[in-house]
Amino acid sequence: MNDQQLLRYARHILLDEFGYEAQEKVCAASALIVGAGGLGSPAAAYLAASGVRRLVLADDDQVELSNLQRQILHTTDRIGHHKAESGRTMLQALNPEIEVVALVERLSGDALLEQVRQADVVLDCTDNFATRHAINRACVSCRKPLVSGAAIRFDGQVSVFDMRRDDAPCYHCLFPEAEEAVELNCATSGVFAPLVGIVGSLQAAEALKILASVGDTLAGRLLLLDAFSMQWRTVRVARDPACPVCGHYQ
Ligand SMILES: [Zn+2]
Repeated sequence: MNDQQLLRYARHILLDEFGYEAQEKVCAASALIVGAGGLGSPAAAYLAASGVRRLVLADDDQVELSNLQRQILHTTDRIGHHKAESGRTMLQALNPEIEVVALVERLSGDALLEQVRQADVVLDCTDNFATRHAINRACVSCRKPLVSGAAIRFDGQVSVFDMRRDDAPCYHCLFPEAEEAVELNCATSGVFAPLVGIVGSLQAAEALKILASVGDTLAGRLLLLDAFSMQWRTVRVARDPACPVCGHYQ
């Protein structure tokens, strides 16, 4: 790290549990963030500010007025712009030292696999089950750690599916695709603005610890937040030996 970097990341380097080595790992790492909305905004902002060397931000949507209540990467004057590009503008202003790649596309198939393969950690900041399961499959296939977040109304959840570990559950173990899933989204159900900030920030925290190899992550645990009563709960998540997605590795 040069003098500017030592100063920029000084408060991380000061942490006994983090320090110079962890910051160096972060500065050499890459992260894929799928979704530049409510969760992706704080997640990407903290990863950029923390100096993750290469951030790939994928989203095919455009900024709308109703996004601005919570999607803090975007600004009023960028309504109509692609979220991935609007996000890149904000992230590069936060930290010009890092590389930010804006992908204006809904990642799927080989393109998704290729991006997951190139990433050290993947953050699922999307809002629909089909994409979540596609991201999970790619992470299982490439054995990459997946940090998953979700927020709707006043309810948030975060977990880590660390596919580098043989005993780790995957997203499908927890939320089997075959089940009749009632898809809620913010457009119809509403969402409390700071909730996505909390959940997205938790995703950034888990991703940074994974990249830096410090602390304990939420691997094997699901963290649930009721932001209305402000109560947290943690539930254990076990690997499903019969899971059709990750069962291959048993
Ligand atoms: Zn599984």
